[in-house]
Amino acid sequence: MTDTAESRQAAALSRLTDFVARYPRLAVVTGAGVSTDSGIPDYRDASGAWKCPPPMQHREFMSRHEARQRYWARALVGFRALQQARPAAAHRALAELEALGVVTGIITQNVDGLHQQAGSRRVVDLHGRAELVRCMHCGARRMRHDFHAELAARNPGWQTADAARAALRPDGDADLERDFAGFTVPGCGRCGQGIYKPDVVFFGDSVPAARVAQAMALVEAADALLVAGSSLMVYSGYRFARAAARAGKPLACVNLGRTRADELYALKLEASAGELLSGLTAALRAAPPAAGRHHRSPPREPAPPARAWHGSGGPPGATPR
Ligand SMILES: [Zn+2]
Repeated sequence: MTDTAESRQAAALSRLTDFVARYPRLAVVTGAGVSTDSGIPDYRDASGAWKCPPPMQHREFMSRHEARQRYWARALVGFRALQQARPAAAHRALAELEALGVVTGIITQNVDGLHQQAGSRRVVDLHGRAELVRCMHCGARRMRHDFHAELAARNPGWQTADAARAALRPDGDADLERDFAGFTVPGCGRCGQGIYKPDVVFFGDSVPAARVAQAMALVEAADALLVAGSSLMVYSGYRFARAAARAGKPLACVNLGRTRADELYALKLEASAGELLSGLTAALRAAPPAAGRHHRSPPREPAPPARAWHGSGGPPGATPR
């Protein structure tokens, strides 16, 4: 690191530490940027544009068998890398910040489960978890590795064929192009007519209303909102920044690159979430928050969602991702 980069990093850390001293109870929204150090790539570049062709759309998956063949054939390759991913610096720092009472909860847009693996306890998986699949007809759920084992058994040869040159994508998809027409995708064994889908919210689908309310309660109970490693380009995450701003809560952001909420931040730090949050954790470890602060009491249960946080946005209900 050059002197300039080092001093810039130190300045950013000092500003973040000051922010936490003023607002010691943070709700945190995380995105792909906290998992890139775990080897899971980001969807977007620094300007917020897609790095690769946009991911699977909900409607396409649900309506076209060919889309599902392609999706599962690629997932057979891509999901293994997602399964092997381990928590990185940002995940570990956020778990420790929760233990210190600074982080009151995490709203994550990631489906990789790495916050929980790192030890975070209050996590809202806004877009679901990639390790489960669900029948879209009867709702039966099964573990994804079990479904993948069935896929592999029915499609011998696929799992290894292109693994080496396929690029992993954030949701366990992989960039892999070939003819998928011969790929067999089994239907639901329970009801006999449903199709299996990863238990995640695809683009173009809706986040369940109860999950949004749970996340919103975290924001309402916090002093401030910290956005880490997310461009918030998707409305499902952006709405929490808007809600916090509307409630008069200050917002801070640690992200490399532009975000959709840039005009809402009291503090915007262009930095790697892993480095900066690790630095914050070390600083707080050295000089813990003052006695008598909230961190000494157990975290509060999230308050029930306020009556009409979405009052101006139409009736309560699922909102599009
Ligand atoms: Zn079924």
